[in-house]
Amino acid sequence: MKKTGIVFFPAFDWSLGETHPEREERLLYTQEQIFEEGVMDLPQIKQYSPAVADLRDVLRTQALFPNPDRHDLDAHLIAVGCSLVLGKALMAKEITNGFVLVRPPGHHSGTVVWGNRGFCTLNNEAILVNYLRTYYGLKKIAIVDTDVHHGDGTQDIFYYDPNVLCISIHQDGRTLYPGTGFCEEKGGPNSWGSIVNIPLPPGIGDEGFLYALEKWAMPAVREFKPDIIINSAGQDNHFTDPLASMNVTARGYGKITEMISPDLAVLEGGYSIQGALPYVNLAILLALAGEDYSGVIESQKMKRRVLGGEEVRAYIDKLHEYYKQIEPRWRYAQRQEWRLPAGNWVIRERDIYYDTEGIREQRYDLIRECRQCGGTVFISTSNLNTGEKAVLVKIPFEACPACEQAGYDLAEQYKKSAPTLLLQNQLHNRISFWENGKEVNLFATHN
Ligand SMILES: [Zn+2]
Ligand SMILES: [Zn+2]
Repeated sequence: MKKTGIVFFPAFDWSLGETHPEREERLLYTQEQIFEEGVMDLPQIKQYSPAVADLRDVLRTQALFPNPDRHDLDAHLIAVGCSLVLGKALMAKEITNGFVLVRPPGHHSGTVVWGNRGFCTLNNEAILVNYLRTYYGLKKIAIVDTDVHHGDGTQDIFYYDPNVLCISIHQDGRTLYPGTGFCEEKGGPNSWGSIVNIPLPPGIGDEGFLYALEKWAMPAVREFKPDIIINSAGQDNHFTDPLASMNVTARGYGKITEMISPDLAVLEGGYSIQGALPYVNLAILLALAGEDYSGVIESQKMKRRVLGGEEVRAYIDKLHEYYKQIEPRWRYAQRQEWRLPAGNWVIRERDIYYDTEGIREQRYDLIRECRQCGGTVFISTSNLNTGEKAVLVKIPFEACPACEQAGYDLAEQYKKSAPTLLLQNQLHNRISFWENGKEVNLFATHN
């Protein structure tokens, strides 16, 4: 029999402020609705208890600068921990699929973390993905992000990684935070095409969203042949959401879930706390459990004008054709200037803004071109507000010997000169951290 796992972590004592949209009661009505509808009594639902994630699991995937102690992580570590709980249950075959119903959300949190971005400090799905690769040997994972906002943090974390397909369907970045997620963002030199952005015009409803999924996102997932599929299940595409302008219904979300058929869904955004969240969460959960969700009907009526029909289908088809034709254009780094080991290194300059805390980050990403593996990544980052600088060196999962050596050479080269340096050796599951030239054991005080 099919089993659907569920774990709740409403984080009732954590918020960014009383009037903030990402606030304490976001999951309160959902919990009530799910209990009232008797969903928890269904034989195929299995509830799990929250757990706290280990800092090690975070640092394998994200770099907390200048060091982890400078971040308030309590609630975030539990949201991550809940994702890992269902990940383990899935791998142990205790469940067929699962829904991680937690806050705070995570998909705007990227490779480097100087602070909170878009209400996110830790990326729940990304940390989960790399946890499953480390401990269960999963090779290929697809993430389908159905939040109304571009999943820019998740994209950032896997941008250079050919083994994780990141698809984000969202309201066009020209009209909504975070202002990114265009077709041209297709991945790095060893991973071109593993990032798929489907920006949709404001006003699209169930029909348009499902069309983009059916004709574009899901064929890409099937072609990728992932071991598992994770859905970043944001609910702010709903027609009552106060932050965005899309018109998806709760039943539409049920169909979206059915079509993606994720192994795990992880809650992201959704700020219509009474109007949408209880209904959308219920529809998603029923769809995961293989139950009928056609009776899930919101108490509010659709007031916005829905964009649909032939015009929208033609728009999506045209965008898809355009996506396929985009070719990469790389800029190569000067090896001497950056003191880089042998190889060709692509350089990307980035400016990242942390809206929640007003932090501006300047980043240089350097990626070693490689035909054998994902390629070692070197990131030099500055927090322009504080003047702090740091370096991240990432040796990827399944790194080839030359790329692994390049990673060690870079760490050796920079550990004395960089104020802080984090070495993520994903291949051998080792995390090393240097502060002012000295190696620091980050895990002595956190466990
Ligand atoms: Zn969102
Ligand atoms: Zn390599």
